[in-house]
Amino acid sequence: MNKKIVIVGGGFAGVQAAVRLANQIGFQVQLISPLSIFEYHAALYRSATGRSPLEVAIPLEKFFEYAKNIEVVQDKIIKIDQDKKQIEGKFGKKYSYDELLLGVGNVTGYFHIPGVEKYSFGVKSVEQALKLKEHLHKNLSEKKYEHAYVVVGAGPTGVELAAEMASYLKFVAKRHKVPTDKFTIYLVEAGPKVLGMLPKKFTDKIEKRIKALGIKLYLNTAVESETKEYVNLPGEKIKSRTVIWTAGVQPNPLFAENDIKMTKRGRVEVNEYLQSSSHVYVMGDSAATKYTGMAQTAIHDAKFVATNLIRERNKKQPLKYRPKRPDYAIPVGARWAAVKKGKKNYFGFMGWILRRLTDLKLYRQFLPIDKALTTWRYGYEKYEVCPECSR
Ligand SMILES: Cc1cc2nc3c(=O)[nH]c(=O)nc-3n(C[C@H](O)[C@H](O)[C@H](O)COP(=O)(O)OP(=O)(O)OC[C@H]3O[C@@H](n4cnc5c(N)ncnc54)[C@H](O)[C@@H]3O)c2cc1C
Repeated sequence: MNKKIVIVGGGFAGVQAAVRLANQIGFQVQLISPLSIFEYHAALYRSATGRSPLEVAIPLEKFFEYAKNIEVVQDKIIKIDQDKKQIEGKFGKKYSYDELLLGVGNVTGYFHIPGVEKYSFGVKSVEQALKLKEHLHKNLSEKKYEHAYVVVGAGPTGVELAAEMASYLKFVAKRHKVPTDKFTIYLVEAGPKVLGMLPKKFTDKIEKRIKALGIKLYLNTAVESETKEYVNLPGEKIKSRTVIWTAGVQPNPLFAENDIKMTKRGRVEVNEYLQSSSHVYVMGDSAATKYTGMAQTAIHDAKFVATNLIRERNKKQPLKYRPKRPDYAIPVGARWAAVKKGKKNYFGFMGWILRRLTDLKLYRQFLPIDKALTTWRYGYEKYEVCPECSR
């Protein structure tokens, strides 16, 4: 009898777990996700700033073309009934499982700051990234450009995006004969430095690079509110209709709605096998593990869970979870990146090469080499002129 594995979430953890279980004897797998694509978050900022979305949106079916035991289902799960070992989708369809693997990630958090959710742009999905790209392009092509473009949050996403916007906006401006000295990019951060989780020696160089790109960096500055025309900071308001919110995440509501135990920091409590209870595994951003919040951790978790399922099938003892320290690779503008690999740091062009190799390595975790290379190459393409904006 095949074991019925249901994986919820078509992101890094969910897809990786399914890839590991593909064509494994003894498993029948359903991968359930609301979207038909996998979104490669690490490069979304590039789609928002004029590069091809083909690099970041990979159809889920493409991963499992040759897998006989994987079924991809498009649905959003809203209920988990652990007694019946059954989950339910938003239109009432029920899915039974022997083992449930949850890789549902996080959702954007706005911390109840007035106006932020309503007026900000985001870059957490391909849809949001393309909406921002269209707006940026339209803005300059119709010469209704802003004097200020404001990125809120100087974590990896905010830093990468602000830096890439610096060159993209110049490119679009020149194309539409808008003087490039008419606008400024602001990067606003509530904490005392950029990339709060990384050592100051490392982030100092990134701050220097950000300033060299002409970006105005505001540290220790928490956004107070936002309106259609302004973003309000303590003691200053910046006039802008382009505010991009990258500053916060909160737990996926699926857990609280189904009484799954969370830590105070909003992650799901898991044991040494990444289980929140027997037959329910939690992987990736949702799990309270040491290096949670990174794609590499989500992949590590998924490999771990899949390995233990295979060991169980082979009547072997399960392994205990050991966290794996991720590398950090932060691109900051064209052909410049800061990379932290263990104790070693790399900056500039060398860092950028390492970052591109990291991207390729990540694609290789999911795709055969030819498909990984094709997808990866899209990241080299020049800026696309926004097709949605017809010029
Ligand atoms: C813009 C951006 C840039 C990033 N850059 C990097 C980087 O450079 N390096 C790095 O290591 N990490 C980076 N990260 C973090 C990385 O993307 C996450 O750590 C990783 O995506 C976590 O994987 P996950 O599988 O837990 O969640 P996700 O990849 O977010 O996947 C969650 C999946 O669950 C689905 N889902 C959600 N709710 C439900 C539901 N109720 N039912 C069914 N499906 C559901 C979602 O649609 C999605 O498919 C970045 C994140 C963002 C947003």
